[in-house]
Amino acid sequence: MNNNIYLNQAQLNAEINRCLNCKNHPCMTACPISCNPQEFIQLAKNGNYSGAVKSISDANPMGQTCGLICPDKFCMKACTRSRLDFPINIPKVQASIMEKHHNIQDTLKSPRSNGHKIAIIGAGPAGIAACFQLLKKGYNVIIFEASDKVGGALNLIPGNRLPSEVINKEWGFIKDNPLLETHFNTVIKNPQSLLKQGFEHIIVASGEPNVINLDIEGEELTVSYIDYLHNPQKYATNGNVAIIGGGAVATDCALTARNTGAQNVEMFIRRRISDMRITNEERKNLLENGIDLTGMTKIKKVQTEKNLLTLHTCKTKFVGNKLEEIPETTIKRPDFSLIIKAIGSYAPHFEDTDKITYAGDCKTGGSTIVEALSSGKSAAEKIIQQY
Ligand SMILES: Cc1cc2nc3c(=O)[nH]c(=O)nc-3n(C[C@H](O)[C@H](O)[C@H](O)COP(=O)(O)OP(=O)(O)OC[C@H]3O[C@@H](n4cnc5c(N)ncnc54)[C@H](O)[C@@H]3O)c2cc1C
Ligand code: SF4
Repeated sequence: MNNNIYLNQAQLNAEINRCLNCKNHPCMTACPISCNPQEFIQLAKNGNYSGAVKSISDANPMGQTCGLICPDKFCMKACTRSRLDFPINIPKVQASIMEKHHNIQDTLKSPRSNGHKIAIIGAGPAGIAACFQLLKKGYNVIIFEASDKVGGALNLIPGNRLPSEVINKEWGFIKDNPLLETHFNTVIKNPQSLLKQGFEHIIVASGEPNVINLDIEGEELTVSYIDYLHNPQKYATNGNVAIIGGGAVATDCALTARNTGAQNVEMFIRRRISDMRITNEERKNLLENGIDLTGMTKIKKVQTEKNLLTLHTCKTKFVGNKLEEIPETTIKRPDFSLIIKAIGSYAPHFEDTDKITYAGDCKTGGSTIVEALSSGKSAAEKIIQQY
């Protein structure tokens, strides 16, 4: 376990004492799932940690996980304190309170079953939030999950940022609820088929399982971020590693390659380095770990040469908002042992029907944990109003 991901008691006290207790709680307004930092920080400040845990857990079934990985663009960006000096590190405060004071001994309580049977496809954050909300109102919930565990894309996040125990701990509070049934290793190809089995409503929360391809010669020589992050040790190398892509997932790939022994890691980004959609913390980690960033560069081809991989790259330029290749700038970049493709993923788009509601990344496109949770919660609320 990486202890730096939590604050010690002295750090926690220092951080919560900086809270200005704003009555209009801008932090809560900025949180997609309406967690209330102003409230839980004041409770913690008064020593009422069980109240703080309850405040977080009532709003959010994955409060500790969010605390560890929520980006700084929500509650922290809204924190009034940033106008005085710098914002309170609300996510870290939240994660630390949950780590120290949320002891899972019991199971989420439900009222007596209301007789309605709802199916959820996918047990990532969106599916978990929908399940949590429905169980609290007495619905019978049956989850179908393609893999052998809950968490979805969270399972790809490196353990030094998000230890798997945290996901298990939060699921531990839900999993034994008597109104819940789970079917792991079960792929549902057609949600309509579940309606024929007697489910009244289906929530599809299947994420974005398809990797976006580069459509270039030699693409088969690259490894997708999904395959890589599922089992980084399988691809561990002390040679040079290229990452194609410049977002948060590409950043996780780069840092993981570095932590598993790569000599040099270089990220190739089509846009400017300043356009990378990553947090300040991620930017700092890339710099501190000596990851090379090559911006305004497009990959044209991959080939094998002398048992290693060569990239053919060319420079790009903006013409208005569009990126174009600069002619005659193609060069060869040889000597890579591993090339990881991390330019995104997608899901086919479907519209909601009367009986089928889409939630999370499969509905909105790649987002964040807290947005996926909020989307799952809204899907459940829609059902609660309907039945
Ligand atoms: C490497 C990486 C790092 C990330 N880092 C962050 C971060 O730091 N902060 C942040 O906020 N977000 C981060 N995210 C994004 C976050 O993980 C996602 O936004 C979130 O997990 C989406 O939740 P979801 O429930 O919509 O989908 P998913 O988490 O993708 O879950 C979908 C689930 O559905 C299952 N499924 C799919 N198809 C079927 C089917 N046909 N039948 C049954 N089950 C099915 C899948 O197995 C999966 O378990 C990261 C994502 C990745 C990949
Ligand atoms: S859930 Fe995430 S965005 Fe919301 S208050 Fe907590 S850390 Fe901030």
